[in-house]
Amino acid sequence: MAEWKNGFESSTGKKIAFIGSECYPFVKTGGLGDVMYALPRALIRQGCEVRVILPLYRCIPDKYKALMGYRGSFMMDLTLEGRTFYVGIMEAEKDGVIYDFIDNREFFDWGNPYTGLWEDIPKYCYFSKAALAILNYMDWIPDVIHCHDWQAALAPVYLRTKFSGTPVGSARSILTIHNLRFQGICSIPHLKYWSGLPDYLFNYPVFKINDDEANMFKGGLAFADRITTVSATYADEIQTDFYGEGLNGHLFYHAPKLQGIVNGIDVEQWNSADDKLLVAPYSAADVLEKKPENKRALQQRLGLEVNDGLFVIGLVSRLTDQKGLDLIDSVFSEMLDSSTQVVILGTGDPRYESSFRYYESANRGRVCAYIKYDESLAHQIYAGSDVLLVPSLFEPCGLTQLISMHYGTVPVVRETGGLKDTVEPFNVYTGEGNGFTFDRYEAGLLLDAVRRARDTFFNNREQWNRIVVRDMEKDVSWENSAKQYLRLYDELKGI
Ligand code: ADP
Repeated sequence: MAEWKNGFESSTGKKIAFIGSECYPFVKTGGLGDVMYALPRALIRQGCEVRVILPLYRCIPDKYKALMGYRGSFMMDLTLEGRTFYVGIMEAEKDGVIYDFIDNREFFDWGNPYTGLWEDIPKYCYFSKAALAILNYMDWIPDVIHCHDWQAALAPVYLRTKFSGTPVGSARSILTIHNLRFQGICSIPHLKYWSGLPDYLFNYPVFKINDDEANMFKGGLAFADRITTVSATYADEIQTDFYGEGLNGHLFYHAPKLQGIVNGIDVEQWNSADDKLLVAPYSAADVLEKKPENKRALQQRLGLEVNDGLFVIGLVSRLTDQKGLDLIDSVFSEMLDSSTQVVILGTGDPRYESSFRYYESANRGRVCAYIKYDESLAHQIYAGSDVLLVPSLFEPCGLTQLISMHYGTVPVVRETGGLKDTVEPFNVYTGEGNGFTFDRYEAGLLLDAVRRARDTFFNNREQWNRIVVRDMEKDVSWENSAKQYLRLYDELKGI
């Protein structure tokens, strides 16, 4: 793999600027960070030139900051009063992707990376505007600016207002919805002040959601040339009342420019055959021999009874309502029979943190609740578990089920969003399928799916083994999805 560089080597092809608030390995709180890392790399392999524009947060580890080189700086006005702010550019390159970090201590020198909406609104107004300004400053004019989630949602608005008539104004824009739950909502005067955008945008078709409040995501969706989200099912779901988070009408109105493109995973980052974090790396050819070794190592690391004959259920997740944890909570005891262990890795809502800690203390040796963010343990859970639970209330795409399949761990998922689009339910009669699924959001149905999986594991091992190998062989890479994004970029040229 190529080394990091702080220089810029030009290539040919379509120019795409990614604008988003997190990117692995610099800063990641969830799937957005993975996508911001993996999709640019897949696009480079398709011949594009890609720059990824990110805030230079204080929480980015020094080892990455040391790889960045100073690229330039200037002053930029922001706010209704036209206050000026410093914009520094620090740059690094890896495997052909250029990373431009926007440096401003006032906005980015605290938080990890998000703090609270009141401070985050000014931070991301500044970020979206500065992202366009640095493209003009560097004289690198993309064909498409590809913006991600609410934190970058003002970029399409600035593009057609403050930046129209400037060089970057020729670019087209895409806004991708990774999670509609977070929208950047605040009082109208707060957004008006910090964005410095004109009054006429604070109406219902753009920012306004009620007499008092404005919504950054809503404005971005109105102005973007195209909207994508991370699975076809979620693209449909968000036009409904239940999943639309208050923007279903707006999205229904903009549906002609909305489409779903399912995420992949970076198969270099997630490569069980060459995973240094595993005691026994493996491929589809030897998964059935090596998985038990990884299971024993996982049990040992977590202080569980070491026995590869047990059925190990894994969970790697933010601990929030979105992830269906109330379902797990309400059937936990029934799920945990004497042949079963449960391993939980996650942080989040204190309610779930303490309830999983309780299950651990009540079931020592059989349950582990590891309430932390830990990349290495995540790899070991994907490798050492038999099933991974993803019973989400809603799931735009979901990456954990893709990673788990790629590691030969059978997903147990609720049929929603990307989970529905990526996990084919196991059919006991034909033997086809990738995992165990349930449809309605009901704890009993989750329990039933876990029991079906466990029954297949213990009583129909041949079928089970075929599912494991089939999951490992399933193409979950970015290549197909990157091609769909490329087609979309091409289409945009014509509008
Ligand atoms: P979301 O973006 O909604 O959190 P995704 O399934 O799209 O969910 O992505 C979650 C990503 O974050 C996966 O790469 C998963 O392995 C990782 N992850 C989640 N929680 C943890 C944790 N506590 N420790 C390590 N990795 C985690």
